Amino acid sequence: EVSFKGVKKSYGRVDVIKGVDIHVNDGEFVVFVGPSGCGKSTLLRLIAGLEDITEGILEIGSRTVNELQPKERGVAMVFQSYAIFPHMTVRENMAFGLTIAGASKQEKARKVAEAARILQMEHLLERRPSQLSGGQRQRVAIGRAITRKPSVFLFDEPLSNLDAALRMDMRMEIGRLHRQLGTTMIYVTHDQVEAMTLADKIVVLRDGQVMQIGAPMELYHEPANRFVAGFLGAPS
Ligand code: ATP
Ligand code: MG
Repeated sequence: EVSFKGVKKSYGRVDVIKGVDIHVNDGEFVVFVGPSGCGKSTLLRLIAGLEDITEGILEIGSRTVNELQPKERGVAMVFQSYAIFPHMTVRENMAFGLTIAGASKQEKARKVAEAARILQMEHLLERRPSQLSGGQRQRVAIGRAITRKPSVFLFDEPLSNLDAALRMDMRMEIGRLHRQLGTTMIYVTHDQVEAMTLADKIVVLRDGQVMQIGAPMELYHEPANRFVAGFLGAPS
C-alpha cells in the first residue's frame, strides 16, 4: 500500500504538491494523469525517496517514509529515457541494481534469468543496447526493475519515446506483467489510451492537486468537472 495523506512538497517558496490524499491498494494498477508540470513525476520521486515531502504523511506498506531509507522502500522506478548503460550488456544492465546492492553472482544470475524469461529476452542477454530495438531497450529497463523484486513499481512515462505500434505492444506487455506479478504499479502517462486500458484507478492531477480519483469508466462517464472531462471524459 502507498498512502499520501495531506502531502505537500515545496521547492523553496514554490508549492508544487499542494496537499494530496491518494491511497493505492496492494496489487492495484494506478495511473497518474494531468498536464505537464502538474506534479506527476514529483509524486513518484517522493515515493522513491529521491525527494523528501515538505508536509503531511506518506506511508509505504505500514510505515511512514520518515522511518524508511530510500533503499528500504521496496520500490523500483522505470523512467522515460531508459537509463540503461550503452557499454554494458543486457545481462549487466538488468543486474545493475543488484550489483550495487552487493548481490552474489548466483543471485544475480538467477534473478536476471527470471526477469529475462518474463520479458522474453533470454536470447538477447549478451547484446549491448545499440544492438536492440527501442522496445527491447525499454524491456531492459523494466527487467532491471523486476530483478529488484520491488513491492511497488513506479513508471514515469515509460513508453513515450516509442512509436505508436511499439507503444501498443509494450502497453499490453506491461498489463501482462501486472497480471503475472500482481505487484502494485503506479504509472504516469500523458496517453489517454494507456490510462484507460491499464488502470484499475486513475488519479487526475492539476497544478499539484487531485481533481478526481476513480475507475476509468467512472471518470469517463461521470467526470467531476470540465477539466477531468477534457482529459478523459466522453465527448459531449
Ligand atoms: P511532465 O508531464 O512535463 O513530466 P510533471 O507533472 O511530471 O510534468 P513535475 O516534474 O512533477 O511535473 O514538476 C512539477 C512542478 O515542479 C513543475 O512546475 C516543475 O517546474 C517543478 N519542479 C520540479 N522539480 C523541481 C526542482 N528540483 N526545483 C524546482 N522546481 C521543480
Ligand atoms: Mg514528469
